[in-house]
Amino acid sequence: MEFSIQDSQLLATKGLINGQWVDADDNSTVPVVNPATGEQLTDVANMGAAETRRAIEAASDALPGWSDLSAQKRSTLLEAWYDLVMENQDELAAILTAEQGKPLFEAKGEVAYGASYIKWFAEEARRVYGDIIPAAQPGRRNLVVKQPVGVVAAITPWNFPSAMLARKIAPALAAGCTIVCKPATETPLSALALVALAQKAGVPDGVINLVVGSRSADIGGEMTSNPIVRKLTFTGSTPVGKLLMKQCADTVKRTSMELGGNAPIIIFDDADLDQAIDGALVSKFRNSGQTCICSNRLLVQAGIYDRFIERLAEKVGQFRVGNGLEESTTHGPLVSEKAVTGVKALVDSAVADGARVVIGGDSGEQGSCFFQPTILADATPAMGVFKEEIFGPVAPVFRFESDDEAIALANDTEFGLAAYLYTNNLKRIWKVSEALEYGMVGVNETAISSEVIPFGGVKESGQGREGSKYGLDDYLETKLICLGGL
Ligand code: NAP
Repeated sequence: MEFSIQDSQLLATKGLINGQWVDADDNSTVPVVNPATGEQLTDVANMGAAETRRAIEAASDALPGWSDLSAQKRSTLLEAWYDLVMENQDELAAILTAEQGKPLFEAKGEVAYGASYIKWFAEEARRVYGDIIPAAQPGRRNLVVKQPVGVVAAITPWNFPSAMLARKIAPALAAGCTIVCKPATETPLSALALVALAQKAGVPDGVINLVVGSRSADIGGEMTSNPIVRKLTFTGSTPVGKLLMKQCADTVKRTSMELGGNAPIIIFDDADLDQAIDGALVSKFRNSGQTCICSNRLLVQAGIYDRFIERLAEKVGQFRVGNGLEESTTHGPLVSEKAVTGVKALVDSAVADGARVVIGGDSGEQGSCFFQPTILADATPAMGVFKEEIFGPVAPVFRFESDDEAIALANDTEFGLAAYLYTNNLKRIWKVSEALEYGMVGVNETAISSEVIPFGGVKESGQGREGSKYGLDDYLETKLICLGGL
């Protein structure tokens, strides 16, 4: 399919501040490139601290009006936004694939996944309940009310440029907050299209603001130092998350951090092998390995180790790697040449340390941003592929003997986002799931995420939860009103 992004009605290239589409103050721009072809799609405004400050002020001005609306009205506007996103699902997916690289079917899935949060929080907006607490003294009543945190700043990564933003804007708006967002340099177009649809749905000026460009440190510096901003919600790498948390300390902002992962998938001898292979394939190779909950380390029990690798390699050999805009493509490029260099370095060093390449092992021939789907056998915990988030289509397979060894290997990381296990033994399911130091555990299932579950990590994978009945709390303050003299 030939998709011409220039013809898209949803193509926006300027930032959105107080309902106006605006250029960078110095009129500078940054290119947006299709990683599959190297083609420049367009360029977008390259904004900085001053534009961010104005966006924050616009969000502050819009806050009283937005938080005073009835929850019913906010819910109706979110529903209207959801409808527009789903009506434009195909076009949003084509934009996403063009700038990010994932195959069209995955991009369509991401748009619907992001939209599901808009619908969910449209519903949750009406369920922000308070409480009455029996008083310790006579003549008093203690009321607990939930109020919006205030102006929120949001920073999102390139790997899910549509869904990660929807997952932040929707609960913020549902709670009555206003927001200033910054998408990744590589993927601003999905974010711009999404907020353009919110504007079309009738969300008032200033409620959602979006600054774009590559001056991330300037934008982030303003977001974290400006006292008007009461909360920062960030999805991205752990090092940048730590930096932003430090920057937020001076004004004691609330933070939600969805950071890196290093997910183990533990496959026991008694697992249903077909199920385990399907689960491993999806969770390892989705988005060419560029998701935070991708299986990073495949831990396979000794009794089925060789058979597992053989069967996995058969399936990986059937992948069709190419331009995500072509219908036959099952796996697209990585986001950038830099990403390919990083993945190649991890593979080369594992091989130098004794890992065996079963399939793949090198950059792809389809273009400079491609890497071959790869399986590494005989991987060991001393290798970089054990310790680091690979963020590429590389499956290192580690061997273990006992339950305790599997648990120790799985927890031997500073990360704690998602973990998976495959077994048919109920006792083992409980023992291992409870022992895993992770925010999310999939048992005989790797497609664990949806709007109804609390998504988030422990340890250095972050804090806070997105989605579910718990997700709105991240955007609400709990206030006591004590009535005395009664
Ligand atoms: P990244 O380098 O941390 O970038 C994420 C965002 O932070 C981008 O918008 C980036 O902007 C911005 N940024 C970078 N430096 C900044 C600074 N000094 N101040 C303010 N903003 C700054 O991460 P990435 O490589 O794009 O994304 C991949 C990471 O995200 C992986 O570690 C992955 O596991 C994680 N992730 C986590 C979740 C989750 O829910 N836990 C979900 C998806 C991804 P620029 O693009 O302009 O540099």
